[in-house]
Amino acid sequence: MRHLLFDLDRTLWDFDGNAYRTYQAMFDAFGLASLCHVDFETFHERYRVINDALWDAYRNGTVTKEMVAIRRFSLTLADFGCDANAPDIIRLSRKLSDYYVVEGTRQTGLMPGTLPLLESLDMQRDRFSLAVITNGFSEAQYPKMKTAGIDKYFDHFFLSEDIGYMKPDRRFFEAVLRRLHAQPDECLVVGDDYKVDIAGAMAVGIPQVWYNYGSVSIPAGSQQPSFTINHLAQLQSVLNSL
Ligand SMILES: [Mg+2]
Repeated sequence: MRHLLFDLDRTLWDFDGNAYRTYQAMFDAFGLASLCHVDFETFHERYRVINDALWDAYRNGTVTKEMVAIRRFSLTLADFGCDANAPDIIRLSRKLSDYYVVEGTRQTGLMPGTLPLLESLDMQRDRFSLAVITNGFSEAQYPKMKTAGIDKYFDHFFLSEDIGYMKPDRRFFEAVLRRLHAQPDECLVVGDDYKVDIAGAMAVGIPQVWYNYGSVSIPAGSQQPSFTINHLAQLQSVLNSL
């Protein structure tokens, strides 16, 4: 095993915790409580559902990145009585989106055990190279890693926007293998999302470690990952077993 390929969001970077803090600040800064007549928790819950659906659509290629960025807010506002197509709501949605990208990338929360893991892998440079494999927007992903101070641990950054395909598309993983001049069995993918990280790696024959921190079940009829962990501290024993 020469190359460890890490997903970023919800694997190393605490996407949900960081997003939650950003939305809370945004909700207050833009006075959304009085505009939507709703409390933050209700607004945020609705936003999450809409955002997840838009991301699924983006991965499937049915909406563009720009549409995801604006509509995740305009559709949420629409659920609380605003007109999603009104110019002022579209303008507000664009401002919210810009705010989220700028403020969200300033958050530094990491998943439990991220820094000790990266520190320890850094001591094993003779054994492993480290790469990030991520689907996020590149204007967000690079600053996030830098602000959180984890970019220095990685030798390679593979972003879907640079590669032209998104996980779980096999062409994403094939491009990564080509760029690393590596065979599938020389790599190990570590990721939290079964459908995106694990199934994608499986399809091209790369061994996988599923970081299943929420202890969810695998989708019905799917194959077991090569390894499953529920805390990053367990990764070292997987590496020792190889
Ligand atoms: Mg993830």
